[in-house]
Amino acid sequence: MSTIVKDPCGLICIPLTYVAVFYADYVVVRWVILQTMHDSLWAPFHAVLFNTVIFLLLFAHLRAMCSDPGAIPLPETQMDFSDIHTDRLPCFPRSPESSAMLAQHEDWTVCTRCETYRPPRAHHCRICKRCIKRMDHHCPWINNCVGERNQKYFIQFLVFVGVLSVYALFLVIVSWVQACPDCSDDVSIKQSRIVHCIILVMESSLFGIFVLVILYDQLESLANDETTIEQLQGSKENGGGVPLHKLLMSQVCRLPCYSRASYQRSHNVHSV
Ligand SMILES: [Zn+2]
Ligand SMILES: [Zn+2]
Repeated sequence: MSTIVKDPCGLICIPLTYVAVFYADYVVVRWVILQTMHDSLWAPFHAVLFNTVIFLLLFAHLRAMCSDPGAIPLPETQMDFSDIHTDRLPCFPRSPESSAMLAQHEDWTVCTRCETYRPPRAHHCRICKRCIKRMDHHCPWINNCVGERNQKYFIQFLVFVGVLSVYALFLVIVSWVQACPDCSDDVSIKQSRIVHCIILVMESSLFGIFVLVILYDQLESLANDETTIEQLQGSKENGGGVPLHKLLMSQVCRLPCYSRASYQRSHNVHSV
């Protein structure tokens, strides 16, 4: 269980996520199901199924938010990195702890912010203020890093948001296409239903598209065994442009750690 990250953006995005989910639930149950299917067996079926998807979504979100993404433990005793802080060659002299670590893990690097050693593919997140194993990116929507240990929960969360968005759009479309002889003729009720359904369609379309883009990005990362940070570093080193879905993802799920990680790799981090 990781501690809550004190990031203002994340602390705003978390309640926003819950408000969006519960608003979708309210509109679907109150203004779609109860208004247009109240005398049908489809009403309890869709109400139960829609809320089951919401429960699974919130459970995956909670696990992605509260799980340890793979933080590198900080050393119990302060290590001697004097050879790294100065311009001396990084190989010597070293403290006994540093030398022992060096002998065991030749390909490990040093994070001068955490002042500890870290395995290959770990990156420092300036928001979490920790190095994260196989860090993909920091996501304000879960107020946590997406790393080696919680990426599966993050992907589950994306899948359930996608399913919920498509399901909500499907129910709204069905409710408007099907004839509804028992629907209320009250103008104010009709107007409220129209307004709530329009907001829900906009919300579901927006979240659905963003989530599908991020899900595609995550599955591509898994298929290529390359994190988002590594992909961006690779395209930067090759002089290539950033793919469109990465650009969109950076707007939705910003990548504040990328520039700092690459900076550290080129300036502060020495291979040991
Ligand atoms: Zn670090
Ligand atoms: Zn982070």
